[in-house]
Amino acid sequence: MEQRATCPFRAQAIDDGVVKDVNRHSDCGIEGHRILADGLEQAEGNMDFDIVEYIRDEARKARPDVQPQVVEALGRLGYDLRRTSAQRIIGIEKQYSTVFLKGTHERGPVVCSQCLDLVAAGRERDTLVVTDWKTGWKDMTNAQAQSAFQTRFGCWLLMREIPEVQTIHWFYAQTRHGHPAYALIKREDDFFNIEGQVQTVVQLFLSDCRDAWPDPDKCCTCPATAICPHVIGEAKELMDDPQKYLLQYAALKEGRLDKMEKAMKAYVAEHGTIEVDGTWFGYKQPARRVAYGLHTDKDDKSLDQKKGNRAGR
Ligand code: SF4
Repeated sequence: MEQRATCPFRAQAIDDGVVKDVNRHSDCGIEGHRILADGLEQAEGNMDFDIVEYIRDEARKARPDVQPQVVEALGRLGYDLRRTSAQRIIGIEKQYSTVFLKGTHERGPVVCSQCLDLVAAGRERDTLVVTDWKTGWKDMTNAQAQSAFQTRFGCWLLMREIPEVQTIHWFYAQTRHGHPAYALIKREDDFFNIEGQVQTVVQLFLSDCRDAWPDPDKCCTCPATAICPHVIGEAKELMDDPQKYLLQYAALKEGRLDKMEKAMKAYVAEHGTIEVDGTWFGYKQPARRVAYGLHTDKDDKSLDQKKGNRAGR
């Protein structure tokens, strides 16, 4: 759902198996969630089973390439589990599902589901507290947590399945940063807005939509850049080979830009302005003294606009 809400082209490429949505940080997440799921299975019906102890021991035996991150992430999980009294815990690593559309002759039912890391009862009877562990580098703000599709969709699912719930406090426990990002979702204000959003995503899914919605933030983390004709500029090169990209960046930073500028100044002094597709390097007009610079049509337009504004005053 989240992938489709972000960019249908990307979601479809992942669904078709053309690209794989896996990176080192999600490997850490997968490993952590596997340990949690195993622990919960063993804890079921066994009052003496210490799940926190189990998580700590198993994290140490995690896949060696991601073990330090798993230990770190699950260490905090153990802390949060100890802090949350057992009576308040409603679900750990539990899949919540709802039938959004009944099946027809042409297709089966559309079921929306999401796995939630920890759901606990809040202080009030109609309040829930959700904690989701994030092991990646992204440091979310509260505003980002509030508008994230994952937050909204998870809360909508809970509100749909548990009609008494009016308020949900949602925490992203950001294990690399040591501070959470927080969102507050209220049935009264948010439920139907989110339902509209979900409905649109379901329609995109049912209509097999493959539209691309490029955006620098999305494309620079997208696994489909190699096959996407809509990928935005820098994202393809960056995603193709991040190390090579870094070296190019370092080379530019360490003086190539200065050298390029010097070379172009020498060239312009001899041959005049260099220009291509509305971008040019040369003498700044109408300056009396020689002032080199890089200019674009955009600069000219904003200059015209400023002049216009001044004339209109
Ligand atoms: S590269 Fe950008 S536009 Fe293309 S699928 Fe990925 S996010 Fe969408």
